[in-house]
This record gives sequence, C-alpha cells and structure tokens, in this order.
Amino acid sequence: MRIVVTGGAGFLGSHLCDYLLKSEHEVICLDNLLTGSVDNISHLLGHERFRFYKHDVTEYVYIGQAVDAVLHFASPASPRDYLELPIQTLKVGALGTHKTIGLAKHQKARFLMASTSETYGDPLVNPQPETYWGNVNPIGIRGVYDEAKRFAEALVMAYHRYHGVDTRIARIFNTYGPRMRPDDGRVVSNFIVQALRGEPLTVYGTGNQTRSFCYVEDEIEGIVRLLMVPETEDVHLPVNIGNPFEVTVIEIAEKIVKLTGSHSRIVFKPLPADDPKMRRPDITRAKQLLGWSPTIDLEEGLSRTIEYFRSRLEKTK
Ligand code: UDP
Repeated sequence: MRIVVTGGAGFLGSHLCDYLLKSEHEVICLDNLLTGSVDNISHLLGHERFRFYKHDVTEYVYIGQAVDAVLHFASPASPRDYLELPIQTLKVGALGTHKTIGLAKHQKARFLMASTSETYGDPLVNPQPETYWGNVNPIGIRGVYDEAKRFAEALVMAYHRYHGVDTRIARIFNTYGPRMRPDDGRVVSNFIVQALRGEPLTVYGTGNQTRSFCYVEDEIEGIVRLLMVPETEDVHLPVNIGNPFEVTVIEIAEKIVKLTGSHSRIVFKPLPADDPKMRRPDITRAKQLLGWSPTIDLEEGLSRTIEYFRSRLEKTK
C-alpha cells in the first residue's frame, strides 16, 4: 500500500513510518516540524519507499499519485505543547482533519484518525469505554486539544456516513517510549530526565491522579491492526488503544527513581487546570475487533525508555 502519514516526523508518526516500511509499504510523510523533528526520521531519508515533505496540513494537500491510506497524526499532543500552541492545535485538529480526509475521499483511500483519551475529558467513569461521552470543559486550557479532536471525530463520522469513506478512529491513551522529546512536559519524559539529571521530580497536585501508560511498540501494533482490519460497519466507531494498567503519578515517580538508580527526591507543584483525576482505557473492543492487547509491561517499557534518554542526554552533554 502507498500510505500518507501526517505528523510523520513526530513521536508516534515516526514509529508508524518505521513499522509500515518494515511491512513493505510505501510511506509519504508530511510534517510541518512544529513539534516533530527530522531527527526522528533521519534514518529513513535514503529509503527507497520513503518520502518526506515539509508541509502544513491545514493547507491544501496534493499528492500526485494513487494513495491507499491516509493516517492523520499531525498535532501538538502534550499538554505543554497545546498550551503554547492553542491556535495551531485547533487548526490541525479541525482544518487539518478536513484537508486530509478530503484527500482520502478524493483518492478513495482508507482514513485513520489519531484521536485521544482527552475526548473523555476529566472522566466521571473509570475505566472509560468508547460509549462514554465524556466530561470536557470546552473553554478550559485543554479545550483546544479536546474539542479539536472531538470535532475531528464528528467530521470523520460524517465523511463516513455521508460520503462512504472507509474511516477508522483510534482513541490513543498515554503512550511513552523512545523519541519522546525531553522537553515535551509529559510526565514520563519529565520524570526520567529529572531523575537522570539528579534533579527533583515535579509531581503536580497530590500525585494521586491516575494514568495508564502504553509502550509505543504496543500502541503502534494496535493502531496498524485497526488500519488493516477488513471493513465492517463496526470498525468505523472509535476504538480505545492503550494499556489498562493504571498507576498514580506518585507511583510512576517512585518507579522511575528506582529504575534509574537516581537519588532525586520528589517535590510537589500546583496541579494544572482541568487535569483529569483518573484515566484508564476499557480495551474490550480492541481485544474483540483486533485481537490486540498490550504485551510490554510498565517496568520493561520504562527501562527501554530510560536507556533511550540516557544515551540522548549523553550525546547533548
Ligand atoms: N505531571 C506531573 N509532573 C510532571 C508532568 C506531569 O505530576 O512533571 C502529571 C500531570 O499533572 C498529569 C499526569 O502527570 O496528572 C500526566 O500528565 P501528562 O502531561 O503526561 O499528560 P496527560 O495525561 O495529562 O495528558
């Protein structure tokens, strides 16, 4: 298949490009490099089945060749990023989804959208099944991301229902692993970098809020299975892709201190507004539809991620 990946120079996007190339597909990677980086795809630049175009997908997307699938992964995705880039976040979720699904419609290609657990907002049910409608503050600081993604889901369903586009919606939960940016502000990258530098780990609020972390390899496997599963009426509805193993922020801090062998202490900082108190995917649907569930446990995934950051920090010393 010839596959377009938007945000292909980002954390998830670049892992997707790797996976698709290994599976013998041809990949056209689009990225405006706002939060992505050429470093993530530099090893692919000479590959004969890989092409990269620096392009902002909120503008018209033209591909002069037949395309079989479009994967829309472009967006600032960490709370720090979308706080700093609120307009770009709204635009890529709304206009970027419109342009890229327009491309899929024109090309009669399959379309997969990277959605998010943020569609559930600060959830009132735990774990979250896909049927839960969420608890989102539309005008809060996270609203730019949450509402853009909710709009995008509505648009994708409308293109499916009205134009018959073969669409897929992956609701991605917290994912971690190599190629996260050391400065993206997320909890796993922050804590690992702080621990490796011997700085205090900054826990926001009481640290009793929970998240459920999926290692990037598992996440990508789930996403590609959702892309490849043959079309039935059921595949168009959103599918949670994440790891249901739930931990508190304090627990993750302690685990990272232990695994890095660091002497860092833990300090407490104010909790950002609208920070969800709990998050855990119900993955019954992914199991049934895709035969998928994560295989890499938190200790193993964190150990691999720590090794990545250790060598990355060494290089920049
Ligand atoms: N968090 C924290 N310290 C940090 C960064 C994040 O305690 O240095 C907390 C944050 O308040 C949230 C959780 O960790 O409760 C996960 O934050 P992240 O930014 O990774 O993503 P989110 O899951 O909130 O989208």
